[in-house]
Amino acid sequence: MPSPSSATLTIDLDALAHNFGVLRGHAGAAEMAPVVKSDGYGLGAGPVACRLWAEGARSFFVARLSEGEALRQSLGPGRAATIYVLDGLPTGAGARLATAKLTPILTSLPQVAEAQALAAQAGGLHVGLHVDTGMNRQGITPDEARALAQAPDRLAPLDVGLVMSHLGSATDPEDPRNAAQLAKFETIRALFPVARASLAASAGIFLGADYRFDMVRPGVSLYGGGPEERPDPRLKAVATLDAPILDIRNIAAGEMIGYGSKTVVEIPTRAAIVAAGYTDGVIRMAKGRAAAWFAGALRPVLIVNMDLIAVDIGNAPARPGERVELMGPHAQIDELAAAAGTVAHECLVRMSARAERVYLGAI
Ligand SMILES: *Cc1c(COP(=O)(O)O)cnc(C)c1O
Repeated sequence: MPSPSSATLTIDLDALAHNFGVLRGHAGAAEMAPVVKSDGYGLGAGPVACRLWAEGARSFFVARLSEGEALRQSLGPGRAATIYVLDGLPTGAGARLATAKLTPILTSLPQVAEAQALAAQAGGLHVGLHVDTGMNRQGITPDEARALAQAPDRLAPLDVGLVMSHLGSATDPEDPRNAAQLAKFETIRALFPVARASLAASAGIFLGADYRFDMVRPGVSLYGGGPEERPDPRLKAVATLDAPILDIRNIAAGEMIGYGSKTVVEIPTRAAIVAAGYTDGVIRMAKGRAAAWFAGALRPVLIVNMDLIAVDIGNAPARPGERVELMGPHAQIDELAAAAGTVAHECLVRMSARAERVYLGAI
């Protein structure tokens, strides 16, 4: 039951499983390796990964070493998943990686050297290799990859089980950079014929069969964000943020609402004051553009303060205690993200501070 007095973040694990199935349907024969970094996009990496394991996922990606350690704990001894760490092998992290049985995705030549030293001690080490095909963010260069592949003694005794790269423009299927990155990646993966290959995140899965390779790494679309940064009717909302109305106020034309003169109402306005704010994760910049769902309609969000949000409810019958959906199946996450000038990923990871969490569906 939602708390009568505060914002509630409801995480629907059945909707997560639905989205996993939708993406798997588009992934062809590629393995689905969910990305559960940033605590499962703010929704709880433990429950999210355990449910996805039940749906058949056997490999997961996190960003940080500490996230991998926490995920290994949450999965427990009964779920022996492969956990890839996108940060790779930070200096001196070998022992921690080994203890938590994490697989580093090496991202630079110094990391490759450190991994070789570790592997020499341990008699082998399973790693992945991130090759930059155009994002200029993470990964060794194609030239560095070529040099490594041509000097196999430099790689031994590493067991490079995965070669991966990441697309920078996949949310726009028309962007020619996608094909350019794909072509580069195809050349590179051919240098490592034994390793599996992975290029696509959520958006890449929808670019076509060429982009799927052996493994796909969906994140945001598992959690309900559309692959093209707009609502996708095939996906279900996994996270719903709602909060009760505290008060209903009539504001005369020309009066301000909340802070300052920027939020003067031009016409008489009936506003529901809702018990949620940016503390609960609604991005403040969404004010004036976002819509909240109440009494069967989307209604303008007038202000987002720390603890209070005002929603223009027009003539809708309303009473304190009734709940307003700020994000969810109606106030869709991609719309909220656009209103706040950001992406669904950020809306999700912000949903963490104060809102009470409720999980629906089996873990
Ligand atoms: C975050 C991330 C993903 C997942 O991206 P989504 O857009 O959330 O699907 C996949 N691969 C890498 C390297 C990432 O950093």
